[in-house]
Amino acid sequence: MSGELVEFGAVSEPVEDIADVVIIGSGAAGATAGRVLTEAGIDVIIVEEGPHVPTEKLTSDMYTSFKWLWRDMGLQVGQGRAFTPILQGRCVGGTTVINGAIMHRMPKRIFDHWCEERGEGGVLRYEELERIWDQLDLELSVGTAPEDTLGRNNTLMRRGVEGLGLRGNSIRRNVKDCQGSAHCNQGCPTGRKQSMNNTYVPLAIERGARVYATCKAERFIVEGGRARGVVGRFLHPLTHEPGPTLTARARHAVVVAASAIQTPVLLHDNHIGRTSGLVGERLQCHPGAGVVGVFDDPVDMWFGANQGYESTHFWDERMKFESVAMPLEFGAARLPEVGPELMHRLGEYGHLAIWGVQVRARAHGSVRRNLFGRRSIRYDMNDGDIQLLKLGIKRLTEMMFESGAREVLPGVHGLPERISTVDEIEPIFGLTDDPRRFHCIASHMFGTAVMGLGRNNSVVDPRLEAHDLPDLYVTDSSVFPTNMGVNPQHSVCAVSWLAAEGIADRLAGR
Ligand SMILES: Cc1cc2nc3c(=O)[nH]c(=O)nc-3n(C[C@H](O)[C@H](O)[C@H](O)COP(=O)(O)OP(=O)(O)OC[C@H]3O[C@@H](n4cnc5c(N)ncnc54)[C@H](O)[C@@H]3O)c2cc1C
Ligand code: SF4
Repeated sequence: MSGELVEFGAVSEPVEDIADVVIIGSGAAGATAGRVLTEAGIDVIIVEEGPHVPTEKLTSDMYTSFKWLWRDMGLQVGQGRAFTPILQGRCVGGTTVINGAIMHRMPKRIFDHWCEERGEGGVLRYEELERIWDQLDLELSVGTAPEDTLGRNNTLMRRGVEGLGLRGNSIRRNVKDCQGSAHCNQGCPTGRKQSMNNTYVPLAIERGARVYATCKAERFIVEGGRARGVVGRFLHPLTHEPGPTLTARARHAVVVAASAIQTPVLLHDNHIGRTSGLVGERLQCHPGAGVVGVFDDPVDMWFGANQGYESTHFWDERMKFESVAMPLEFGAARLPEVGPELMHRLGEYGHLAIWGVQVRARAHGSVRRNLFGRRSIRYDMNDGDIQLLKLGIKRLTEMMFESGAREVLPGVHGLPERISTVDEIEPIFGLTDDPRRFHCIASHMFGTAVMGLGRNNSVVDPRLEAHDLPDLYVTDSSVFPTNMGVNPQHSVCAVSWLAAEGIADRLAGR
């Protein structure tokens, strides 16, 4: 029996539905849980706050994509000494719709560190994750970006990395027949990216799942001390005008997969995780900054995989480098000039390359409700993180000049806006460790509902069931004990898959 997708506008009366399992969120974690549970013949409802945007409606301009696909139009921020944009999707498919399609397995050393920190049996099993990664690779067409889709932003980075004698590689991505249109962050306009809106969400619907989109989950239904569903409200996708309510009842379990930022808000609002006091705490990120290079020959960032080349050479030093092609309206924010000079510089946009460094930062932030009831994200890199970032920017600058850049825009307040020799980056180390000097963003978040054995030091157990509310599972990267130093979606999918298998086994009495 095929399910359906229901959205704001299609319903005028309160909606009631019941399934075996209700899933909140349709991103990497939620859609994957939907795929696994429906395969096991389990009846599923998915509740998703954002709209469903069909492939044919995806356009190349960032404004439209911010409006329909990005949370808070891309303006969600973490506050600390500096404002750090915390970027996420809010649509059917979640952040996978706007991400760069990079697929990385969690490094074993990170997993071993989790085991040490969380104690024997305190986390999921790595061999199980490996089995699931193999399966995800097959189902989501994960493969190395082919040479003819790289484009010069990627091949120039390769030249810089190899020229300096560093290790680098074309990126493994979940894309089938990529057209190299460099629109990954606006939502793939040809449906080639195997994001959740193109894969596991439709698969779950085919197998009977009902997806309630533009519907924000607000309150858990608790009966007999167990999670038994969720009450949500349909909201206009753009104006947020309230519509009817949804009462989604669960016969057996509720899966929260709303992301490491939205999940703790939902848990807080429903008083879950009070025993440990850890809900919303321990927020970890991979803050990242981009460096721009100006080349004599055209780079044409609008052709190629957005993110097609990377270097993990310095992973042990807690930094990773990636190409990051950006459309004009995004990348222009990094140009320092104003007025006629800016107009002139925009004319050379086709000669710019952009590459980024992401840092496995040690800082911990938090996600809470503030006194006015608003979501409040606190995040501040510590001095050690900033020193790493400086080193990362220096290394990117060296790569840029090595690959033939005429000028580099380091994007650091206190340095010249444009430099033309590698020596001119050295003064970066004499600058104070002030985060306001950098153009940092964070798009990988972890740790706000951590897994573990003890009620006092974790929010969910190693099966990802909440200590405080039986039958409530959290399966997104909130449960990760730390950040990882690599892009998270592959691990988020695998962890959620494993938890969903556990739920299916339990329901089958295994
Ligand atoms: C620009 C960008 C590029 C990225 N590139 C990569 C990359 O190339 N590779 C990689 O590995 N990672 C990348 N990431 C990160 C990666 O996409 C995320 O880590 C991953 O999608 C997280 O999965 P998730 O299921 O936890 O959350 P999401 O995928 O964000 O899904 C959560 C969903 O829950 C919904 N939701 C939230 N609250 C509620 C509620 N109350 N009720 C109902 N629904 C709710 C949200 O609307 C959202 O759709 C990128 C991120 C960004 C922002
Ligand atoms: S580069 Fe273009 S075709 Fe390839 S995945 Fe991204 S948006 Fe889709």
